[in-house]
Amino acid sequence: MNNTDAVKRWEETSNKFCVRCVLRHLCFDWIWVLRNESEITEHLKETFPEFLQHAVAGADSIDNANHQLKRQGSCHCCLGILESNFLQPCLKHIVDALSKESYQFATYQPQYFLPVQLQVFGLYSMKYFEEKYSDVLKKHNPTDVKEVFKALMEPILIEGINQERDPNGVLEISLHLKHVSTETNFLTHVSSKCNEKKTFNRKRPKNDEPTFTLARIRSAMLNLNDSELEKLCSIDLEPSVVGNVQLFHTAVFVGGRYNKYSRELPQTPWLVEGERKLVSSVQEYISTPIQKAFGADSYNFSTSGREDVDVRMLGNGRPFLIELINARQSKMDATQLTEISHQINGQNNDVSVHSLKVVSKSDCKKLKEGEEEKTKSYSAVCCFIYPPSPDSISKLEDLSKITNLELKQKTPIRVLHRRPLATRSRYVHAIKAERNSNDSRVFKLLLSTQAGTYVKEFVHGDFGRTTPSLGDLLSAEVDIIDLDVESVNLQWPPT
Ligand SMILES: [Zn+2]
Repeated sequence: MNNTDAVKRWEETSNKFCVRCVLRHLCFDWIWVLRNESEITEHLKETFPEFLQHAVAGADSIDNANHQLKRQGSCHCCLGILESNFLQPCLKHIVDALSKESYQFATYQPQYFLPVQLQVFGLYSMKYFEEKYSDVLKKHNPTDVKEVFKALMEPILIEGINQERDPNGVLEISLHLKHVSTETNFLTHVSSKCNEKKTFNRKRPKNDEPTFTLARIRSAMLNLNDSELEKLCSIDLEPSVVGNVQLFHTAVFVGGRYNKYSRELPQTPWLVEGERKLVSSVQEYISTPIQKAFGADSYNFSTSGREDVDVRMLGNGRPFLIELINARQSKMDATQLTEISHQINGQNNDVSVHSLKVVSKSDCKKLKEGEEEKTKSYSAVCCFIYPPSPDSISKLEDLSKITNLELKQKTPIRVLHRRPLATRSRYVHAIKAERNSNDSRVFKLLLSTQAGTYVKEFVHGDFGRTTPSLGDLLSAEVDIIDLDVESVNLQWPPT
């Protein structure tokens, strides 16, 4: 190639592509890609193959060389994303988004979403360099645009965001970049080359913009011939812009224990066909103030077991866990947590909480661990349906001699609509009755059972579906009036 052709070629290349993309394609050292444009230009001057030096070396200063590298429009490979003047505005968008929301975070992880059009321009530039520089390209394996962009943003983020960057950071900062002019017609054209039928998401509003997935564009690109690609991509391009910045805090978990003193309050919202049956629930009384205090978008509430709407939860309370989604606050000190407890406990006399604590993700599984094995203590007010015989009274007094009684429980009739029919084995570890001095038919039953035992069914027998039942043990018909959970024996929240 003579000098004139080399100069011409260089002019065309530098008009289409930014210096970083030229470097990427012509396989210069990766490290140079991260320098600023002046340094890259200087490097080009020093290391360009001889035939190109005529073009660059003609400029006796870096400024002149820069001038010579000045392009019209944006880069036809990276759509301007790798140009230095694009990077600071990205930081500004992130800092602005952070200042609008009061996230409390010590670590963060950036995520970048680049325009899908880069795929097409990536292919275009690959073909361009392979064709025009076949005489000098020994291998052609340019570093990925996204990798270079990440590396370029790194020092800018470190300087601009005064927190630790960490791949497991608690705050996800998602930067979405757009290239507006090629978003519609350009992509529609490329996408039309795809053989696969479009799959429409029925939930999508009709007049919403169509989405061009990466997979669809990649598949369509296989059917683009060189002249179509050349025609599509040889257009004037404006630089990319920041579409938006999304911030999302990883889940924050709050553990604690609750007591329930009402026989008319369900544990979770009681909805039948979408319609609320009772005013509130334990879940809502506890979670709403916590959600507010942590500034979370939403929450998930879970507990170690559950009690029926008419059963009270007494003693040390039932362990619960709240997963807070996208919380603005991630830490609370003991005083703040006590304040939240007071707020919850001040709402009414039906629910109270204690031992609130922010727990780690790894501790969360302890709530469900050993759920089957752990023991629960109950107290129940029971009665003989008919005046008890002396034999039944004597058996009642002997109940305390029973230990580890095995029950066979068929799924109770009252829960058959939501649980599969099965016969399960459960243990009553200890049992004791206290007679009521005023009424010979009424007695209080104290029992400790394996978790998951249906206590009401154990008392009345559920039409023979639980054996033995308390009635079987007493040779009498008995029923349950009131039930309270006295304790759920689980170390929670973890220390
Ligand atoms: Zn570029």
